[in-house]
Amino acid sequence: MAVIELRTVRKFYGALEVIKGVDIRVEDGEFAVFVGPSGCGKSTLLRMIAGLESIDSGDFLLDGKRMNDIAPDKRGIAMVFQSYALYPHMTVAENIGFSLDLKKVPKPEIRRQVEAVAGTLQLTDYLDRRPAALSGGQRQRVAIGRAIIKKPSLILFDEPLSNLDAALRVQMRAELQRLHRDFKATVVYVTHDQVEAMTMADRIVVLNRGTVAQEAPPIALYHQPDNAFVATFIGSPR
Ligand code: ADP
Ligand code: MG
Repeated sequence: MAVIELRTVRKFYGALEVIKGVDIRVEDGEFAVFVGPSGCGKSTLLRMIAGLESIDSGDFLLDGKRMNDIAPDKRGIAMVFQSYALYPHMTVAENIGFSLDLKKVPKPEIRRQVEAVAGTLQLTDYLDRRPAALSGGQRQRVAIGRAIIKKPSLILFDEPLSNLDAALRVQMRAELQRLHRDFKATVVYVTHDQVEAMTMADRIVVLNRGTVAQEAPPIALYHQPDNAFVATFIGSPR
């Protein structure tokens, strides 16, 4: 289970209010996409959900439980970043299995789980390579593998495909949707790319300057934008 509620959440950097009292609810198992222009506060929101940034006021609830003061590693949330941040000295298998190793899971069990995840992500033939010997798409798959091996009930993606070329982006979109179907995790996916939002989301939250401009399923958003910002940003017909 992973139902997310943000209740009138605010964030300041010094005197600058970057998240201005945001209310968002994401249902269990939903693929929610937060979309908006660069600087609108997408990463800040995700980092607050992950526990990497404090919440200045308001609450973040996960399955009804207030999480504001819970440490990131105690939240049961995985996050995949734009820059994959793999361990360069470790093999693909070691990168994917690292969190299980930290938890002292027995080596044969780690190997079994790593192979299962690698199979899903088409990394079986690359398990003994180091990140430097992988393509961008393969590295991003390793980063995703590292997240899903923890079997999180909630996965956060921060512009995970923006470093990939266009063809690979299309392929990875389909892969991520398939993963979402297989794992049944709740997903919050952040992007500045409207096409990515329209093709991947069950529901889109459009952000503008630290506020929610509109929240709706893709088709509804496209055909019934609430305001000029959403219409222009999404490219609605008029
Ligand atoms: P997005 O991910 O949508 O591009 P961010 O959440 O990264 O937006 O940033 C939102 C706003 O907060 C921007 O104006 C950015 O410059 C500012 N900001 C982000 N991180 C910091 C920080 N650590 N210190 C000061 N300002 C920041
Ligand atoms: Mg960002």
